[in-house]
Amino acid sequence: MSRSSIGQYTDELLQARLLEEGPEGESTGGRRSRLLRLNSRWGHVVGVAVGATFLNVGLFDFYSEELESTACEIDIAAGPRVILAQIAEIAECLCRTHRTNNLAGIGIGVPGPVNVQKGWVESPPTMPGWNRYPIAACLQDRLGCEAYVDNDVNLMALGEQAMGIGRTAEDFVFVGVGTGIGAGIMAGGVLHRGHNGCAGEIGHIPIWGEKAPCLCGRVGCLEAVASGAAIAKAAEKRGRQDNGTILGHLLQQQGQLTAEDVGRLAAGGDEDACAIVQEAGRHLGQALTSVVTSLNPLAVVLGGEVLLHMGDLYLAAVREHIYKGALPLATRDLSIVRSSMIPKVGMVGACTLVIDQLLEVHRGGRLSVHGQS
Ligand SMILES: [Zn+2]
Repeated sequence: MSRSSIGQYTDELLQARLLEEGPEGESTGGRRSRLLRLNSRWGHVVGVAVGATFLNVGLFDFYSEELESTACEIDIAAGPRVILAQIAEIAECLCRTHRTNNLAGIGIGVPGPVNVQKGWVESPPTMPGWNRYPIAACLQDRLGCEAYVDNDVNLMALGEQAMGIGRTAEDFVFVGVGTGIGAGIMAGGVLHRGHNGCAGEIGHIPIWGEKAPCLCGRVGCLEAVASGAAIAKAAEKRGRQDNGTILGHLLQQQGQLTAEDVGRLAAGGDEDACAIVQEAGRHLGQALTSVVTSLNPLAVVLGGEVLLHMGDLYLAAVREHIYKGALPLATRDLSIVRSSMIPKVGMVGACTLVIDQLLEVHRGGRLSVHGQS
């Protein structure tokens, strides 16, 4: 573009207040340059991450800076009416606290396959009662702003792209390990959703020789042997087998065990817990070997609430199996790391999605006004 065209476009965006002038840049001999940036006050955005058992809701400015966020426990099986009302209430409360009357949009990540155009989930195995419930339309009506829905791990990948490792890597895979397991695939800087929107459903890759039943109705899926729920189940099984073990004692005390319990005990060196963590890491590493061989990413980023509780032992098991199983060329430059943005990465990604979509809408409107589309 010529200097004058750029000037014309940026003037329009400045007039529309979508851009604002930032600090002065370096002088390169002539006049000092002035940096332009998105106007942080153009509108506020709510980012939401919904898990099977938790909810994170945050209020952001248009520069993706978090103003405040809230986390609470939920049961996703309570259904969309209850959970969406809860989300709307928190969003309204955050807006009131920060005296925000220009809520531009809300983005929400949910743990199931999403039809992005319709704004709902399709046959989600872990979200009973949510099938084709109009999530986006419902939030749009209630809050009076634009609403966008996407898969939770896709949004974690977007969050990582905006503020994490994605700033230096265009090709990476974000793996979310929670109650289920999924991946967000970033290829050439673009999120790969696949023909039916279920790309990255790696939780249902069959693991050779495994027979554990999966919520999808089949057996031996990765999710059934390596997710947070599978780790908890393996620990309860071990505890029941031998109530003289630490896992056995804890099971008797609490009535149930969680992945968090297992992670904590493994960090303290408990042999049974360490074995369970390593086994889960081995299964995940095996499945990711296929992913790395197929996609040749620069990085595999591990996130999701289970990663909050799993130490280096888990990461080491995942790494070991990928490096052992994948082609040397596919792993030559590969790094396998834990996301530095857990637990907020999904919420940040939801905020990023909304801002991207709103800019896209704005661009469409402007171009059609000028008849240049
Ligand atoms: Zn499955």
